[in-house]
Amino acid sequence: MDALLRSIEEKVRPLIGLGKVADYIPALASVDPNQFGIAIYSNNGELYHAGEAYNDFSIQSISKVFSLTLAIKHYGEDMWQRVGREPSGNPFNSLVQLEYEAGVPRNPFINAGALVISDMNQSRFASPHYAMREFIRRLADNPSLRSDKVVADSEYEFRSRNASMAYLMKAFGNFNNDVEAVLHSYFNNCAMRMNCVDLAKAFSFLANKGFCRHTGEQILTPRETTQVNGLLATSGLYDEAGNFAYHVGLPGKSGVGGGIVAIVPNRFSVCVWSPELNKSGNSLAGMTALEALSESIGWSVFG
Ligand code: GLU
Repeated sequence: MDALLRSIEEKVRPLIGLGKVADYIPALASVDPNQFGIAIYSNNGELYHAGEAYNDFSIQSISKVFSLTLAIKHYGEDMWQRVGREPSGNPFNSLVQLEYEAGVPRNPFINAGALVISDMNQSRFASPHYAMREFIRRLADNPSLRSDKVVADSEYEFRSRNASMAYLMKAFGNFNNDVEAVLHSYFNNCAMRMNCVDLAKAFSFLANKGFCRHTGEQILTPRETTQVNGLLATSGLYDEAGNFAYHVGLPGKSGVGGGIVAIVPNRFSVCVWSPELNKSGNSLAGMTALEALSESIGWSVFG
């Protein structure tokens, strides 16, 4: 497997230079684009990696899966009254559908949906970001993980768009806590720094019927796990989920920090990372790497 990952790395490295690093905040724009990492964590606990798999990066939207998992654990089916399960077909930070759909976001992985879920988690914990950080540390088996304060502060400074979504949802009665406090928690969750190995391990419960082997915890039930994977397959890749299903055929979640995590149910979780993004905001080299991986293992959830 290590040899396969190295050959994928060789194949995609030449793509670096063809994309564009996220530049909506200065703290992300300054990342060295010339990096690629990949890590696989199997349900047997085997770890394989290649490239810069131990370099930390900003997980950004990948954090939305951790927030959703915490919310499902507590609210169960009730949470779906406040957020939908349909792909949006619009950019991740779009506001338009909120107005038409009475402040109920289309799914948990667009920003509006993740903000509502952050609002739910805010109602439960005295220190919502620390609760999330603790949860992520456990899942990744890495007690030193933390949020990058410079990134979180910069996100907050340039929060207008996310703030307008949250206030619009509040106007519709779909937001219970102080908007600014929820924004702080949300940005701190997005600003968590992790590497490919951390993320492959942290997502392993989704490949393993909800069971996290290193903590021995059943994180979600097997049924909830298939449901989360279903949402990832339909809405996990911004407005490129269809393209990802076509080329890769796995549930996955990307972030504008250049990370993408994908799940091969009952086998392994994989994380790729390369900071340059394509037009839809997904890692350019990362997408090609996952396509090469799914092709060479001959496996897709649609097979
Ligand atoms: N923190 C980012 C935002 O809310 C998330 C970007 C992303 O990875 O989609 O704009």
